[in-house]
Amino acid sequence: MRAKRAKFVVSATKPSNFPAPALPEVAFAGRSNVGKSTLINTLTGVNKLAKTSNTPGRTRLLNWFEVVPPKGKELAFVDLPGYGYAKVSKSMREQWGEVIEAYLASRPVLRAVIVLIDARRGARDEEAELCAWLEAESIPAIVVLTKSDKLAKSKRKPAAMALKRELGLARAPIVFSAHTGDGVDELWNAIMRHGRKEARA
Ligand code: GDP
Repeated sequence: MRAKRAKFVVSATKPSNFPAPALPEVAFAGRSNVGKSTLINTLTGVNKLAKTSNTPGRTRLLNWFEVVPPKGKELAFVDLPGYGYAKVSKSMREQWGEVIEAYLASRPVLRAVIVLIDARRGARDEEAELCAWLEAESIPAIVVLTKSDKLAKSKRKPAAMALKRELGLARAPIVFSAHTGDGVDELWNAIMRHGRKEARA
């Protein structure tokens, strides 16, 4: 499956520049280099829609895309800044956390957050904190194990189950690879299921 249409709308670095909430939103979060841009490009079928670049300047932005899913009504995809970028200062990292939190806490249209975790690295403090925070805010999290092609086939499911236990998730993470197409349909189905839901109270 892939999107019927997808286009870039706007970027913002701070809450005062966020676009007015309109479409139901699905946000993508993960540390830099987790494969977030590649995943967004794979879901939409639009090469280079999200920039696969690791420069800190680029990754500080929140990017909004209008996306017509394979089935159902239009959604906005929100590409959140990659966290944990190694080469920036602590204060800059903290600022990023604040912007992400400001976004997550201020969007009544937010239906779900896709939390990306590199299959070979597993969850660190940031991922565990993000999942716990989303749970406390009653924001649905869809956890995705990226780059699963880098794990032997026999290790993929066990890695997902281990992460489910570690993060205390209700569902096993989706095992995903942009290279093999693994998990694309499963992730689209999860996104469309959440996109259809009513706004959170
Ligand atoms: P971002 O910083 O999270 O947006 O990550 P990118 O999408 O730019 O990807 C970071 C690196 O991981 C790039 O070199 C990609 O080619 C690579 N990558 C992304 N997805 C996959 C995947 O599914 N499998 C493999 N093996 N590599 C991937």
